[in-house]
Amino acid sequence: METDRSAKLEFAVQMTCDSCVNAVRSALEQQPGVQAVQVDLHKEQVLVEASLTAQEVQKLIESTGRRAVLKGIGSGQQDMGSAVAMLSGCGLVQGVVRFLQLSPERCLIDGTIDGLQPGPHGLHVHHLGDLTQDCLSCGEHYNPYGRPHGGPQDTERHAGDLGNIVAGPDGRASFRLEDTQLKVWDVIGRSLVVDAGEDDLGKGGHPLSKTTGNSGERSVCVCVCVCVCVCLHSVILPSMLICCLTTFDQ
Ligand SMILES: [Zn+2]
Repeated sequence: METDRSAKLEFAVQMTCDSCVNAVRSALEQQPGVQAVQVDLHKEQVLVEASLTAQEVQKLIESTGRRAVLKGIGSGQQDMGSAVAMLSGCGLVQGVVRFLQLSPERCLIDGTIDGLQPGPHGLHVHHLGDLTQDCLSCGEHYNPYGRPHGGPQDTERHAGDLGNIVAGPDGRASFRLEDTQLKVWDVIGRSLVVDAGEDDLGKGGHPLSKTTGNSGERSVCVCVCVCVCVCLHSVILPSMLICCLTTFDQ
């Protein structure tokens, strides 16, 4: 489900003087969803505590005319682990999805995916991280408890059932979810798949509703499979786990 719980984001931002710092501060402070802003001119670093998607915060910073690169995301409370999935599928589909374990029960999932057909698409963690046959070798939805397929708010569901993301007319899906069944340590080494169609969350009455949500073939042309890489040890800030995404240029 969507969440407004805050997380800490670290950006590298080119800044050369105090006026740059002030411009970045002004662009972020007072914005709905932004709780705190720290700007370090010498490190060219901007730390933002916000309940916005990473992409929304990046846009606010870049509204000042400066390029911002997301370096990490953290909870600010416990270092429980995080992971990054970088998506580069067939055609124009690409994006990045970050998983951050906020507490033993809650996992924050922040992502932006471009190049999708406008409309809803099922989003699932699959059992295997095997991409040797593209999306066909990922296995079924991650389901450690042998339950039927369902929606993200159902108790009876696959742990990998994350529901639907919605791409706008420009083909971009930007989302920020919180999940109580999926854990960061579950997704490591598995795969994340965006389906061609909408997931009926197990309620569509179709023969596939209770297994896949009838969300379309994992066609090579429309699915996006990624291995989830783990970033566990590059702690930069106290009480904040920073992911290893230091060179990814979104
Ligand atoms: Zn499922």
